[in-house]
Amino acid sequence: MGRDMSQTAPSTASVAELAEALIACPSVTPAAGMVFDCLEGQLKPLGFEVVRFVAGEAPDGPVENLFAIRKGPEGSRHFAFAGHLDVVPPGEGWTSAPFMPERRGELLYGRGAVDMKGSIAAMVAAVREIPQDAGTISFVITGDEEGPARFGTVALIDLMRERGDIPDLCLVGEPTSVNRLGDMMKIGRRGSVNIFLEVEGTQGHVAYPHLAHNPITPLVAMLAELNGLLLDEGTDWFQASNLEVTDITVGNPAHNVIPAKAMARISIRFNDLHTGAELGARVTEIAEKHGGTARPVISGEAFLTEPGAFSDLLADAIRAETGVEPELSTSGGTSDARFLKDISPVIEFGLCNATMHKRDEAVALEDLEVLARIYRRTVQNALKA
Ligand SMILES: [Zn+2]
Repeated sequence: MGRDMSQTAPSTASVAELAEALIACPSVTPAAGMVFDCLEGQLKPLGFEVVRFVAGEAPDGPVENLFAIRKGPEGSRHFAFAGHLDVVPPGEGWTSAPFMPERRGELLYGRGAVDMKGSIAAMVAAVREIPQDAGTISFVITGDEEGPARFGTVALIDLMRERGDIPDLCLVGEPTSVNRLGDMMKIGRRGSVNIFLEVEGTQGHVAYPHLAHNPITPLVAMLAELNGLLLDEGTDWFQASNLEVTDITVGNPAHNVIPAKAMARISIRFNDLHTGAELGARVTEIAEKHGGTARPVISGEAFLTEPGAFSDLLADAIRAETGVEPELSTSGGTSDARFLKDISPVIEFGLCNATMHKRDEAVALEDLEVLARIYRRTVQNALKA
């Protein structure tokens, strides 16, 4: 059974109890209300100024966001934790109720346990033992990371710019560990662009092709040329950019009709040698050469936080608390780090990701405590640096 944690003072609650309180607030994207009340209740007693606001309109909003800051002495460094309180829908087949946190053996079960209410609980626990005069600490928390993300972290960044509260370093608590806590951090991510292709033809009878114009022929030639593109061969930190054909649609039910239109879609995951706009223009040129059109939709640009002081101090903290040597990776999908990189060096590090987005999402109770210690050590050293 889930327990009511609302009476538990943050100063005495374990990391698991903080996580349970967050998990017990259902918060499928876009999250709002109760789960933010819960986090606000955990941060306020620690001396944080908490700002909550709703941004955007339907269909991609409205979205609730939270910015919390505790300022250190004038001129001190500013370390930001970033993350999201929304979760993906639980789906079917759970052993226990997804929004009733349940401990079984060494594990805590519940939607968001690793992605990423467990991480946010570890951030709160990390901070409560750091004195205010150590420096400035903030929380940049959205209710829409798993969804369209148009009015989440983007709106939070606008707010931080307006307030002049720009961090020196930002740590995103996405679940980046693979086999054991600490084995991987993400120092960058590939960018992503989906491109919608279309060729208009002239409908007609297949027996009279001279009276029609079949759009499938040029579409297939276009896709063959796109498929043959070698975008790059990878970099020191990124694998090679990749283009995949993800859909071909003609929708022609008649065997004796040349269709009027043929469509396709491609998806490119690209490294920091490219931008979404440049790739969109390149594909558009090829599409037009074959008599078609291309409409690029950029989901995110690639970014890289060069290995250096930030990754070193995080790696030192991970090593000190776990003995594990973290791999510096740029693998995986996109995250809100793609926005935060515009204001600050950003690295992602968090819990083991084996059960994220799955049924019976679970976190090791021990990992929650260790993650809080890693976060605490990282913040302390970052504020000192
Ligand atoms: Zn996440």
